[in-house]
Amino acid sequence: MENNTEIQQYKHSMEEYLRMDRMPHIWCSSCGLGIIVTSFIKGALQAGVDINKLVVVSGIGCTGRVAGYVRLDSYHTTHGRAIPFAAGLKLANRDLTVVVISGDGDLLAIGGNHLIHAARRNVDINVICVNNFIYGMTGGQNAPTTPLGAYSSTAPYGNYEQPFNLVGLAAAAGASYAARWTALHLKRLTDSFAEMITKKGFCFTEVISPCSTVFARKNKGGTGLDLLMEYKSRAVIDHEANPQTIPLGMDNEIVCGVFVNEDRPTFWENVQNGIERKVKRTRLYEDIKIR
Ligand code: SF4
Repeated sequence: MENNTEIQQYKHSMEEYLRMDRMPHIWCSSCGLGIIVTSFIKGALQAGVDINKLVVVSGIGCTGRVAGYVRLDSYHTTHGRAIPFAAGLKLANRDLTVVVISGDGDLLAIGGNHLIHAARRNVDINVICVNNFIYGMTGGQNAPTTPLGAYSSTAPYGNYEQPFNLVGLAAAAGASYAARWTALHLKRLTDSFAEMITKKGFCFTEVISPCSTVFARKNKGGTGLDLLMEYKSRAVIDHEANPQTIPLGMDNEIVCGVFVNEDRPTFWENVQNGIERKVKRTRLYEDIKIR
């Protein structure tokens, strides 16, 4: 009770867009998630989207909690299903701006198939994937993004599985927009969110974020801030980089930038084109019959 009273004395700069009745949040101190939520809100405001038509969808895990903390229309869905849920929302109400914010475990393991097919179809949604290289909430198991050699609770001798290169995967599957930043690239991250949110088609941004409690501890990475500084020191910005050639590891460069920014027909545009084609063909058929 005392704590709550103390917290209520301070006004958070994003208070208007957060559910303050849910504070204090459950995230660990120096986790990157707070920075990413702030960047997302700033990006949305910068893009000038109608906040009343902005919807956030999250899956399960630490990042999945975002849906519960933002004061927007938001949905906390089941494990791995944030993308199909978001796709359904967008197709049902195309005036909405729909943003999935979820973690690497949720989006790339159980939800992996949904991600590649939404990208292939170019469904008009935005996906922010917070990559902390591990399953944080459930005890530090290997994720599909855990770097080779990294320790986790299911890889006590070091991970021997090749991780996914998320931007390469999204680009290969057909995403209209694919970017990667670390949580310390605050301004660029905000700009990227603003850019993708107003772009048509399937847009994907990966944010490398420190998991101070689990990944840092298992890999002797120090505090969340130490980990964040390490990521920043390894970061190189190269917008021209081929996303297929920039996988992440334990100590190689973290190539950041906007690698894909293209326009191609969205899923809904293809549906409309298909209906028009069908109508034209039917008319042609009717003409032939009449003659
Ligand atoms: S477990 Fe890791 S990812 Fe989850 S809140 Fe803590 S620091 Fe963040």
